[in-house]
Amino acid sequence: MHKTYQHNCVNASDNTLNAMLDIIVEGVWDWNGNTRTVTRSPGWYHMLGYEVGVLREDVFTWENIIHPEDYPRVMHQFECYLSGEINTYEVEYRCKMSDGDFLWIVDRGAIVARNTDGTAARMIGAHHNIHQQMMMQIDLLKQNKQLQDGNLSLEKVIAQKTDELARKNQQLERKIVELELSSNLDPLTKIANRRSFEAELTKEIMRANRYHHPLTLSIFDIDEFKKINDKYGHRVGDNILCSISQLVANNIRAVDLLARWGGDEFVIIFPEQSQLQAHKTSEKLRVIISEYQVSSTISVTCSFGVAQYQQGDSITELFQRVDDLLYISKEQGRNKVHS
Ligand code: GH3
Ligand code: MG
Repeated sequence: MHKTYQHNCVNASDNTLNAMLDIIVEGVWDWNGNTRTVTRSPGWYHMLGYEVGVLREDVFTWENIIHPEDYPRVMHQFECYLSGEINTYEVEYRCKMSDGDFLWIVDRGAIVARNTDGTAARMIGAHHNIHQQMMMQIDLLKQNKQLQDGNLSLEKVIAQKTDELARKNQQLERKIVELELSSNLDPLTKIANRRSFEAELTKEIMRANRYHHPLTLSIFDIDEFKKINDKYGHRVGDNILCSISQLVANNIRAVDLLARWGGDEFVIIFPEQSQLQAHKTSEKLRVIISEYQVSSTISVTCSFGVAQYQQGDSITELFQRVDDLLYISKEQGRNKVHS
C-alpha cells in the first residue's frame, strides 16, 4: 500500500487521521469485520442530516439507509468485492436522510486488513455526495426519452402522412395521365386528336428548323363517306372510322403521328421525310385502304394531299397547301394522292 504519511507513534497518526476526517466533509466509514462495528466520521452524519453519533455503529445502520430499490444492487457489488470477484468497491445509490428524503451518493471502499483465512478484517470507505449531478443526469435521461418518444411518434405520423401522400399522388398521377390521354385522344378512334396533333406539329416544325431536316404533312379524307353513313347507318360509319385509323396506324412508322383532324378527315406528320418519301407512303396507304374490306360488302377509298414543310411556313400556310392538294385529289376523281 502506498504511504503518504508516516508517523513514529500512534498518537501522531491518530491526530493526522482525525484532522483529515474533520476537514473532509464527505462521509468516511471504517468497518471492522471481526467486531462487526462501523465507525463513521462527523461528515458521514452531516451529509445525511443526522446528529453525529446518533446511529448505531454497525452495518445494519448502513443497510437500513440504502434505498430499497438500490439495495440488491449495492449488496451484490459489496459481496462481489468481498469475495474477490471484483477488484474495486464503488457503487452509486440513494441513502435515506434524517428528513426521509433520499440522497444520491457514490460509495467507495477498500479492504485494508485481512484475516488469515482471507476474509476482510477491516474495510474503510467514503460516501461522496453526487445528488446534484445524478438529478441532472436523470432529468437529461427523462428529457431524452421524452424527445425520443416524441420523435418516434412524430416519425410515425410523418411516415403515415408520407404513405398517404404517396398514395394520393399515385391516384392523382393516374388521373392526370388519364385526363391527359383523354384530352389528347380522339374519343371515337382513340388516335391523337386535333389538339395534340397541333402541339406535335409545332414541335416537329421547330425540330425541322433546328436540324434542317425535311418534314412532310399528309392529309386524307374518306371518299363519299356521307353515302356510306346514309346507306349503312352512323354506327357502321363510326366503325369504319375506327378501322381505317387502325389500318393506317399499323402501316406507318412509330415516329409518324396519325391524328383525326375532324369528321372523316385525318392527318399524318412524317418527321424527317421528304415530300417524295411521304408521297410514296401515302400512296401505299391509299392502296392498303382501298384493298381493305371493312366488311364483306363494305370497302372505302381515301384521297390524299401531301406537302413538305418549307422553312418559314406557318401551320396555317402548310395546312392550306396540303388541303388544296387533297382538294385536287378529290377533284380528279378521288382515291388519289397529290403532292
Ligand atoms: P368527299 O368524298 O367529298 O369527302 O365526300 P364525303 O361524303 O366524305 O363528304 P365530307 O367528307 O364532306 O363529309 C364527311 C361526312 O362524314 C359527314 C358526316 O356525315 C360524316 N361524319 C363526320 N364525323 C362522323 C362521325 O364521327 N361518325 C360518322 N359515322 N360519320 C361522321
Ligand atoms: Mg369525305
